[in-house]
Amino acid sequence: MVRPKTEEEIELLRENGILVSKTLAEVGKAVAPGVTTKELSKIAETFIRDHGAIPSFLGFEGFPAAICASVNDVVVHGFPSDYVLKEGDIFTADIGTLYKGYNGDSAYTFPVGEVDAKTRRLLDVTKASLFKGIEAAVAGARVGDIGHAVQSYVEAAGFSVVRELEGHGIGRQMHESPGVPNFGRQGHGPKLVDGMTICIEPMVNAGGRSVYLSRNGWAVHTADKSNSAHYELTVVVRRGRAELLSTFDFIEKDPKINF
Ligand code: MG
Ligand code: MG
Repeated sequence: MVRPKTEEEIELLRENGILVSKTLAEVGKAVAPGVTTKELSKIAETFIRDHGAIPSFLGFEGFPAAICASVNDVVVHGFPSDYVLKEGDIFTADIGTLYKGYNGDSAYTFPVGEVDAKTRRLLDVTKASLFKGIEAAVAGARVGDIGHAVQSYVEAAGFSVVRELEGHGIGRQMHESPGVPNFGRQGHGPKLVDGMTICIEPMVNAGGRSVYLSRNGWAVHTADKSNSAHYELTVVVRRGRAELLSTFDFIEKDPKINF
């Protein structure tokens, strides 16, 4: 059984959610042609540490960097590197914080300059699918309702959902039960209860859903080299409507950020 969080715990998760959301916006301000993904990781790490928190991905199961920096056909878990972003790329920052003993975890895919029309639609559909999932994450529903909402929206748009990776509960641990797949059947899976805190994070490919693991053991790529997008928010399940603990507002209300 998944234990719902207390209101005190939810407030600590919200503090983390706000910090991780602000960190994504700091990164977003710097995303542009000519910037390396290592530079973007450094911005995130500095911002997190300046706020008295720890970048929780660093060292997590051996992950060697402060953030996941995934470009174009990399779905998730890319290493920040000397790769120089160029016009037309897409860049996903997936960022975690550890603050006051609790975790934050959110992700956003940024266009680098102007992207082609199909890629623009991939970003829009993936983000919209996340909100479809959040709408389904109400007390009394089941985890499969979230996955069904994401999957049906994505597939109707002609894109595909990655099956090998999923969202998760969050609390003192970054990854807690239940797993929250981005595909599924309505009415199936663990029951959602008021106070459960989860990360919903669709990973969507412009082409087929097949992926492979890179030789470094971390980066997950699309098999057909198509672009992949990833948006993640932390929410608390409530009766009637889930409440956001992280937000994209810091990104999308900042006129300096290309999103
Ligand atoms: Mg994440
Ligand atoms: Mg996550």
